[in-house]
Amino acid sequence: MSTTNAQDAVVIGGGFYGAAIAVYLAKQRGMKQVTLIERESSLLSRASYNNQARVHNGYHYPRSYTTAYRSRINLPKFVLDWPEAVKQDFTKLYAIARRNSKVTANQFERFYREIGAKIELASPALRALFEPRLIEEVFLVEEYAFDSTKLAQWALRELQESAVNVRLQTQAIDICQGADQSLNVILAPHGKEKELINSRYVFNCTYSGLNQFGGDFPGTRTGLKQEITEMALMQMPPALNDLGITVMDGPFFSIMPFPARNLHTVSHVRYTPHMHWTDEPGTNPYQKLDKYPRDTRVDRMIRDIGRYLPSVLDSNYADSLFEVKTILTKNEGDDGRPILFEKHESLPGCYSILGGKIDNIYDVLEKLETENLSRSDDTLSEHAK
Ligand SMILES: Cc1cc2nc3c(=O)[nH]c(=O)nc-3n(C[C@H](O)[C@H](O)[C@H](O)COP(=O)(O)OP(=O)(O)OC[C@H]3O[C@@H](n4cnc5c(N)ncnc54)[C@H](O)[C@@H]3O)c2cc1C
Repeated sequence: MSTTNAQDAVVIGGGFYGAAIAVYLAKQRGMKQVTLIERESSLLSRASYNNQARVHNGYHYPRSYTTAYRSRINLPKFVLDWPEAVKQDFTKLYAIARRNSKVTANQFERFYREIGAKIELASPALRALFEPRLIEEVFLVEEYAFDSTKLAQWALRELQESAVNVRLQTQAIDICQGADQSLNVILAPHGKEKELINSRYVFNCTYSGLNQFGGDFPGTRTGLKQEITEMALMQMPPALNDLGITVMDGPFFSIMPFPARNLHTVSHVRYTPHMHWTDEPGTNPYQKLDKYPRDTRVDRMIRDIGRYLPSVLDSNYADSLFEVKTILTKNEGDDGRPILFEKHESLPGCYSILGGKIDNIYDVLEKLETENLSRSDDTLSEHAK
């Protein structure tokens, strides 16, 4: 087995989080030897691509004050940092269902006024799109979409500029204690012999794969729930083409622009999750999805959504995005999306990180900023003194 020595950091997982963290370590923390490991043949091709592309502004979380509030803080930063990836030129509506909703229109409006989010009644023309017997109120809000292909282009550019060594088609399989406070990661590059890479720090940013490591990796303390999800990609009819629509807050649905394909994603709380399980080592979510038959439920989604929003019946199905969605078990009930940030005490230098949603990157970077991370050249400069 070949060995690579003396990395400052190995980041496992080339999604948005792994890429942004690798860039942060190289640029902001001055690490010279950073390697990013990704099992797929391109970066940002898993959950960072297969998602609803919503830059959250809090409206999705009327039952989780912290997540709603943090989203309000993070959205303007995200728009400033990734302007080319953010689509703002569409109208965003949140509608409240009359029956089975966990919030009323009054509660929804009051909550968002209180946290300073823009919210106003939609115009009569926009309200006329909805079936009044089923929809209590329609609000015009401010929420954006992101283009994950633009985020991937940003990642490639920045990683190259920061001299991060990117290894594609390479799976990390074990994380083990090495000599002198270092860690060893065993890699299985596609179609080649295993390799060992030695590093001071390891950042496990593998989202659904967080607990799928052998060696000394202890697993995350936080419980995770895995869900196989389907979002339908649809061509909307002209009446809905410049809109994003979310009906809250119970067994309802969302239609959002998906800039990467110039289509809309359609998700439905009842039909988008196909199956779920409690995360555990040895049940690899990627393999589970590979074996899953992927029979679409688009007909059921559109039939139900058509009751609330009749013009959706004129949309055309293009494709479906299937992905494993990973959430913290503790947030099943309130839909909150805090970050997972764990430092593994039994494996010093090893961190597991899960963002939950794209704009949480700021919460992760804030946490990393408080970590005292040493670099390999720190020891050299200590000796030179
Ligand atoms: C259906 C769905 C809808 C969503 N909607 C939204 C939304 O509208 N807005 C929002 O902000 N967020 C949304 N999210 C959440 C968002 O997608 C995630 O928070 C974000 O993409 C996570 O980024 P990541 O880098 O952690 O994960 P990923 O992009 O999945 O990156 C993890 C990477 O690790 C790689 N990997 C895994 N195991 C290994 C290994 N052992 N070795 C090497 N590589 C490995 C994977 O191939 C993958 O590329 C949604 C998610 C889903 C699934």
